[in-house]
Amino acid sequence: MRFEIITIFPGFFSGIFEHGIVRRAQMQGLVSVGVHDLRAHTHDRHRTVDDRPFGGGEGMVLKPEPLAEALNELRIEPKATRKGTPGVEQTRVILLSAQGRTLTQPLVRELARLERIVLLCGRYEGVDERINELYCDMELSIGDYVLSGGELAGAVVVDAVMRLVPGVLGNEASGEFESFGAADTEIAADQEGVPRSQHGSGGLLDYPHYTRPAEFAGLHVPDVLLQGDHQQIRRWRREQQLRKTLANRPDLLDKAVLNEEDKRLLAMIRAGNR
Ligand code: SAM
Repeated sequence: MRFEIITIFPGFFSGIFEHGIVRRAQMQGLVSVGVHDLRAHTHDRHRTVDDRPFGGGEGMVLKPEPLAEALNELRIEPKATRKGTPGVEQTRVILLSAQGRTLTQPLVRELARLERIVLLCGRYEGVDERINELYCDMELSIGDYVLSGGELAGAVVVDAVMRLVPGVLGNEASGEFESFGAADTEIAADQEGVPRSQHGSGGLLDYPHYTRPAEFAGLHVPDVLLQGDHQQIRRWRREQQLRKTLANRPDLLDKAVLNEEDKRLLAMIRAGNR
């Protein structure tokens, strides 16, 4: 998979993708990132990328011409003329914007199936809307707050999507076990007879994790995790997932994939009986 980032601050990305899984994925040739300086597509002495907004008001707006030129250099045509271009189905042009659709893990999973993602980082009051209209397949927000630029949001998208590209995570399953992981209902049960639907988090938050030492600052790791009974551990973890989701993100429970045991547990937690 290839990411292309268009920004007025290319230096922002130096170092940011040189750690951990993201670095390894690039070294293995599974993903690559191109950072493109928007100012390279200006043609005046001041390398101007912004201008005042029509209609008045605060701030500046990123001009359309440098963005269009940067996109053309990446062989991204306007949407209207893109049909039939080889690879077009596998490419998405994304405008990072507080006004966009919110990034969620299901959307991250969708994006991870593409071959190329082009990210436009806005600055100031944003990007001239005609760039969105002409070139962008999607406006994407990383949450309900306003950043000073799209660079951080772009880095978040690259990180979240890249780790789900096949082969990037050492253990392929870890993308399904973590918070917001999909429930794998296709496969009935694993070799221990545990329904696969309870392996994936099914849209719930992750359970708490512990490592050595078994006692720290007077706090003990829950006994169940030390006893090696995998069924009990699974049940305990599932209960913790339900508890955490209920406490921190009850909205997720509406869409979560819950089986009868989950529903019973949740009812008991809600009733304060556990
Ligand atoms: N006037 C815009 C608004 O009210 O929606 C805010 C512009 S913001 C100061 C500058 C740039 O930061 C945006 O063009 C966008 O690229 C980026 N940005 C800000 N918040 C974002 C968010 N939540 N998600 C993704 N990008 C964001």
